[in-house]
Amino acid sequence: MQDTIVHTLEDLRASSGKIVITTHHKPDGDAMGSSLGLYHLLKNAGIDSQVITPTDYAEFLHWLPGNDTVVVHEADKPKSKELINAAEYIFCLDFNALGRINEMGDYIQHSDAKIVMIDHHQDPQDFDHERFVEIGASSTCELIYKYAHKHLDASYMNKDMGECIYTGLITDTGSFRFGSTTSSTIRTAADLMDIGVVPATIYNRLFDQNRLDRLQLLGYFLANKIELIEDGKVALAHFTSEELSRYNVITGDTEGFVNYGLSIKGVQLSALIIDRDYLVKMSFRSTDVFPCNEFSAEFFNGGGHKNAAGGASEDSLENTLTKFKESIKSYRSYLA
Ligand code: 5GP
Ligand code: MN
Repeated sequence: MQDTIVHTLEDLRASSGKIVITTHHKPDGDAMGSSLGLYHLLKNAGIDSQVITPTDYAEFLHWLPGNDTVVVHEADKPKSKELINAAEYIFCLDFNALGRINEMGDYIQHSDAKIVMIDHHQDPQDFDHERFVEIGASSTCELIYKYAHKHLDASYMNKDMGECIYTGLITDTGSFRFGSTTSSTIRTAADLMDIGVVPATIYNRLFDQNRLDRLQLLGYFLANKIELIEDGKVALAHFTSEELSRYNVITGDTEGFVNYGLSIKGVQLSALIIDRDYLVKMSFRSTDVFPCNEFSAEFFNGGGHKNAAGGASEDSLENTLTKFKESIKSYRSYLA
């Protein structure tokens, strides 16, 4: 644990109304859960803060308490700039490299605010003044819970905060099944139940509100898109932009698809490569020893965790697929 937090709840109270909470591009459940979770704790303590996301995020997160207060930078840049310029504290949650927040990174770099990083990814960049970082922790949400106990005042936690935090616990651990799940993760979940969180309700809101289009896309993906290479040790799948339009894909629809490749017996690395309008984006998941983050950093300008990482390419989809098949050869020694 790297912990250099010096501010107190009273310092934050003195900056009420001038606190920005932000998180990464295309925020996931942990990113939104940790951001809104911190927002609710501060709100309950009488401290005003503002969540700003660089981009939009999946519809299955729109039920989160406080969702209607979020400013989306790309949708309202003047407002976002004004808030960042006025900020005395900027909390950076669930990311550790300014490149993960697009052009907001430039504004933050030039701001006079105290930057506080709360995160669980490897190799944090040095852009913060205070940090609460535990590499390998299950989720940033678990860290917000710890941060609330250690540096704020946990008596201000309420059900709204709990629902946000519980969301990140389950989305980042695949419902408590990934190796990052510890007894502390489960204890955190139990404590959240004690303040009113109902796991079945959160699970239903996150996973049982699919659009038919999305399920049909999943059917198409499972039936047609997974290719096994490297003697069945690597599952590779991709979507063209034409396929995305055919299934009316919206933000969040392909979330979790990459895990299906990894569920195939013998597969140690699963890759999903998607031709988004602006970039070719990729997701990597692995079992055991294959270092997805190193692989992604070396070849695809990416990063993340050892067993879950992502990257991007400005090249064509076709060239990116060829590059993937070539680059994997130099990582064969990790494939048992
Ligand atoms: P996902 O595959 O769900 O988009 O991302 C998996 C993990 O990799 C997340 O922890 C995410 O923060 C990280 N990640 C995804 N894309 C990128 C990227 O382009 N750059 C970096 N540094 N990390 C990424
Ligand atoms: Mn996370």
